[in-house]
Amino acid sequence: MEWLLERPREHCGVIAIVDAEEASRLTYFGLYSLQHRGQESAGIASTDGKLLKVHKRAGLVSTVFLESEIATLKGSRAVGHVRYSTSKGSHPQHAQPVSRDENLVLSHNGNFATMQRMEKFSEEKGIDTGNCNDTEMMYEILRFQIRRGATLAEAVVESYPLFDGVFAAIAMTKDEVVAFQDPCAIKPLCFGRINGGFAFASESCALNTVGAEFVREVGPGEMIIMDKNGFWEEKIVMGDFKRDSWEFVYFARPDSIMLGRSIYEVRKNFGRILAEEHPTQADFVIPIPKSGIPAAISYSQVAKIPYEELLVKNDYIGRTFIEPSQRVRDLGVQLKLNPIEELLRGKSVVVVDDSIVRGTTSPKIVDLLRKVGVKEVHMRIASSPYRFPDYYGTDTPIQDGLIAARKTIEEIRQSIGADSLGYLSYSGLLQGIGLPEEMLSNSWHNGVYPIPIYERASEIFTPAT
Ligand code: 5GP
Ligand code: MG
Repeated sequence: MEWLLERPREHCGVIAIVDAEEASRLTYFGLYSLQHRGQESAGIASTDGKLLKVHKRAGLVSTVFLESEIATLKGSRAVGHVRYSTSKGSHPQHAQPVSRDENLVLSHNGNFATMQRMEKFSEEKGIDTGNCNDTEMMYEILRFQIRRGATLAEAVVESYPLFDGVFAAIAMTKDEVVAFQDPCAIKPLCFGRINGGFAFASESCALNTVGAEFVREVGPGEMIIMDKNGFWEEKIVMGDFKRDSWEFVYFARPDSIMLGRSIYEVRKNFGRILAEEHPTQADFVIPIPKSGIPAAISYSQVAKIPYEELLVKNDYIGRTFIEPSQRVRDLGVQLKLNPIEELLRGKSVVVVDDSIVRGTTSPKIVDLLRKVGVKEVHMRIASSPYRFPDYYGTDTPIQDGLIAARKTIEEIRQSIGADSLGYLSYSGLLQGIGLPEEMLSNSWHNGVYPIPIYERASEIFTPAT
């Protein structure tokens, strides 16, 4: 079992520019606006119809690509990827787009809780999948079908029943591009138009960046194809949206629109409802930058307590999760946040953050504030308790590492050392998102997994809260 837990878990960003001038350069710019979805590695593959070239490496978009490298990525079609870290350190050999031969690349956002179907098929067909992670196994199966003479679209349809996990993916050969979604479209993937060509991206903010016009999301069980027959769409299976609500809480950028909802507005709704559910007296409302900002603004507006940004973020240090070791992670908060002591001394504050996951960040923030003489700290969390492990791609630890799985809210309050603690209720979460519960996957809170996790369900215990 242990090896399963060690397997890289990803939460990534994908993008493609199809039939547009300077496709790789646009892809490169688009990757910057998806950088928040993955800071471990970045890559771009491009084709001019004759050659398919790839450049990828560990690191941020800004360090992975030199001008000269973008220039060698020729052609009017390009596919890009940014990859998230794993909890066990980085695995640069898994940088994407996956490219194991000169006629197929694959960018994948998602994760497979189990790879049994793909493994069984590969074994039967004699496909060598030694050392493959889930994305690489998808790739090998697609490649197998293509070698048997299938077009890329046919390969995706043929292999689809074996893809028994979460995927928002884009595959490309020298003459075809196919974007396809799992039957729940758990991860976002949207589609737009650009100068007569097409663009795909995990989030609409990347479409804005490259000057593409948003058209719609790639739907559950759907694929969109660009090949020698032109542009066409096909429903592979009938599916229903079950979008991971963590996108609304934390993952997506505030300027993205998802399922018709503005992420920024949703987060402001969370803060407004949070203020109604957990009012308090204080001198200031302070956000934990940056993800806590929209909710803190509306909390302050409803509570009529002044909003002040008194924890200043050291912007160019990555997110805490990307730190490979617990020791570096322990330093994390100091490395990243600096309090403005002069205004904080002797004051009572409401601190608004988007979430508590492991519960290592909040106690350090409370500590930091106490050290500069803050009198009272009222923690307000703009999401419901995170109680169940994620098998769909976020880099969250096993359930035992989730503080709300092990402790009641009062115990959490004590362990973070706050004077009070309030979480957004589940009904408040749904109301804030403004979509029917059936369109969302809230597994991180309620343990309901719309894409089966099979034997991994045995890892799950009943949470304390
Ligand atoms: P923790 O409770 O694990 O110490 O950290 C909570 C903080 O992590 C919150 O401030 C939240 O913004 C951030 N966070 C929540 N979910 C994720 C995630 O999936 N990845 C990363 N890197 N940070 C996250
Ligand atoms: Mg945060």
